Amino acid sequence: MDLVAELTKRRVMEGELQEKETTLSTVLDAVRDAIAILDDHGNVTFWNTAAEKLFGYPQEEILGKDLHLLVVPEEHLYETYSKAYNHFKTTGKGNAIGKIMEFKAKHKDGRTFVVELSLSAMRIKNTWHSVGIVRDITERKQEQEELKNSRQKYLELTENAPIGIISCDYKGNIIYVNQIVLEILGSTSIEETKKINLLTFPLLVRHGLSRQLEECLKSNKSAMHEINYESKWGKKVWLRIHIKPRKNRNTVIGAQVIIDDISERKQLEEKLFLLSITDSLTSVYNRRFFIQKLEEEIERVKRTGRKFSVIMMDIDHFKCVNDRFGHNCGDFVLRKIMSETIKKIRKIDTLARWGGEEFIILLPETTINKAVVLGEKLRERLSRMDIPNVGNVTASFGVAEYNPGDTVDTIVQKADDMMYQAKSAGRNCVRYIRE
Ligand code: GH3
Ligand code: MG
Ligand code: MG
Repeated sequence: MDLVAELTKRRVMEGELQEKETTLSTVLDAVRDAIAILDDHGNVTFWNTAAEKLFGYPQEEILGKDLHLLVVPEEHLYETYSKAYNHFKTTGKGNAIGKIMEFKAKHKDGRTFVVELSLSAMRIKNTWHSVGIVRDITERKQEQEELKNSRQKYLELTENAPIGIISCDYKGNIIYVNQIVLEILGSTSIEETKKINLLTFPLLVRHGLSRQLEECLKSNKSAMHEINYESKWGKKVWLRIHIKPRKNRNTVIGAQVIIDDISERKQLEEKLFLLSITDSLTSVYNRRFFIQKLEEEIERVKRTGRKFSVIMMDIDHFKCVNDRFGHNCGDFVLRKIMSETIKKIRKIDTLARWGGEEFIILLPETTINKAVVLGEKLRERLSRMDIPNVGNVTASFGVAEYNPGDTVDTIVQKADDMMYQAKSAGRNCVRYIRE
């Protein structure tokens, strides 16, 4: 090959090489990460625009300089670095090569920030160069820290919350349970509680909670329940249970079960309910509750075609009792009569104060004949009862049986009419209507 051809070829090759270098340099300049290339002495041979921005040193200030000295903030480490670098420059090997490391870097203006460095080795003209790609991860670090803090806060909150909190996965396995859950359920340990699968645990299945949870997991629906719960460990409580789906983006990944012990509230509600249906003087049911019971009974016999009867009872000459012995004594008499009467009726019967000194009894599954027998028994016992300081008191009884077409009003009216017939017949007797 002649010299001209040789020179032309070389020029072409050099041109191509230069073009490649320019392209590479442009690309390296355009990337978001800072890129630095160091030669075998640890001096900077390449420094891209992102590196200029990240560290604050323009290219001309840093090229040919020892990068370690400029960016490693803890100077005592410099010696270690230079030793490691000496090893690297002869072998191309080092602990950091091929790895991603985190360290604190220093900006030209003195502020420090956390960076992630990935280091690789490159051989150029028989010497080892190291290529460092550096990314500022201060923000990521901050986010991680914030996430850690908020997780910590969440944990503290759930641990100290006055409500039970259970988290479960999609399969119903418990992944978190707080201390209050153990107290509410009477469980001995978190480990023991965690053995429960919420979708298959028989007690939860029986209460319909497992089905609700399944529904929540499948259709992303919340549910609220109040249950009378007897735990595996024998504790009886009223619980309010709130089931809420746990989501990751838009996918349900499990559920959160919030448990509130509402036993005290329930007891109070129960007390209030009892008060609302009870006559305060005699402790038998009140008229409102009786009417409700009677309505239910009428509906029941309409369906079943069975029988029931009603007894109306009115104390005879009660005004005289008050007049002779005083109102307080009259009250005592009413209480005494009721406490004796209640002993002689069945559990399924409803004894109520209709008003004043009038009382009424609902007798389910009872024909007129049987009701009359009971009325007679009550009348007879009462007339023979010796009430302290008062002596004998009698009452008049009216008995009626339900017939198809009867309403609350008609059946009570019939019993009342019969009771008045008993009064007219001289009191202390039972009258009834057979249709
Ligand atoms: P009869 O045999 O006709 O039923 O005569 P009676 O005196 O029982 O009937 P009347 O309706 O004339 O009087 C009812 C009395 O019952 C008058 C009222 O003061 C008394 N009474 C009603 N409620 C109470 C109560 O809660 N306590 C007391 N001590 N007395 C009551
Ligand atoms: Mg009376
Ligand atoms: Mg009366």
